[in-house]
Amino acid sequence: MTDYYETLGIKKTATKEEIKKAYKKLAKKHHPDLNKNNPKSAEKFKEINEAYSALSDESKRSNYDRFGSAGAQQHSHGYEGFQSRDFGDISDIFDSFFGFGGQRSGNVRRKGQSLKVELELSFKEAVFGTEKKIKVTRYETCDTCEGLGGKGEVKCATCKGAGHVRKNFRTPFGVFAQTAACNTCGGTGNVLKHTCKDCKGNGKVKNTSSITVKVPPGISDGQTLRLTGEGEAGNHGGPAGDLFVEVYVTPDEMFERKGDNIHLDYPISFSQAALGDTVQVPTIRGKVKMKIPSGTQSGTLMKLKEEGVDNVNGYGVGDQYVRICVKTPTKLNSKMKKLLKDFAKENKEKLKIEKGFFEKLKDGFEL
Ligand SMILES: [Zn+2]
Ligand SMILES: [Zn+2]
Repeated sequence: MTDYYETLGIKKTATKEEIKKAYKKLAKKHHPDLNKNNPKSAEKFKEINEAYSALSDESKRSNYDRFGSAGAQQHSHGYEGFQSRDFGDISDIFDSFFGFGGQRSGNVRRKGQSLKVELELSFKEAVFGTEKKIKVTRYETCDTCEGLGGKGEVKCATCKGAGHVRKNFRTPFGVFAQTAACNTCGGTGNVLKHTCKDCKGNGKVKNTSSITVKVPPGISDGQTLRLTGEGEAGNHGGPAGDLFVEVYVTPDEMFERKGDNIHLDYPISFSQAALGDTVQVPTIRGKVKMKIPSGTQSGTLMKLKEEGVDNVNGYGVGDQYVRICVKTPTKLNSKMKKLLKDFAKENKEKLKIEKGFFEKLKDGFEL
């Protein structure tokens, strides 16, 4: 046997207000019109109404408390508990029901769904822009019936050509009538005599199409392109949805992109750093000359103006930043060693390179 208090999720001591509040919440949640994919909701909705009908009325409630649901039902004749003053409180529930009711039709003119696909681009493709062909599987307008779903218009039998029907809503507060668009004809008052064989009346067929995506120069990883009207076909003459293309850019081995700027590590020798030089630095558009001043420190950032990426929205060009990395020479022959020692002496450096490892270590401890 169902416990009405349990059905509404309330305590036996609940006040009238608490009962009403619990009912409103559950009725909204389980109303069959809002739960079309859940066949159990209709039953649940009925149980909630039954519980509320029993507990909202004081004499029925005391009967139920004493004799259980049989006692409550003795005094219950359907949904007789309706009182006009209750209506204002619950009207918001029915507003939302009726709001849904008006849009339920499957035949109305509606925009098609939008689709999302991913597109992988190389670093250079993103920088300079490109054209890519992608395959998209989507519902397209049926060629045979031109999206109409069939031919031979006749008057709709359901609504007798009116385009709308009256529906009755049974609630604990009585039966309400509501005019809604006819589901059979979608409110047009007409139906098609011959259903299209190719789309089975749907007006749309599933197709895999090749679409050309124009990628503008300067697009970055994670950005999305919108191709208007390249999504799913609309319903009954509605416009097609859009196709969103999310871009993924594979990183480059040499260049690193930060917005419209390009970053590059550039190795130079110890002598180039000390004496200065003019070097050929790679950029995304080819090599350019760059002057390295004498005495350049490792880690120095140098700017090559407007050698970066064209802004995707046309707002100028980025720069290229070159980070100088001074490479310490590793393979020294005896002549190079001598030159460096002479250099060190000239530079008044106190070198202990003559000593062995353990001697140096001892020196370290003596300090
Ligand atoms: Zn068709
Ligand atoms: Zn109709």
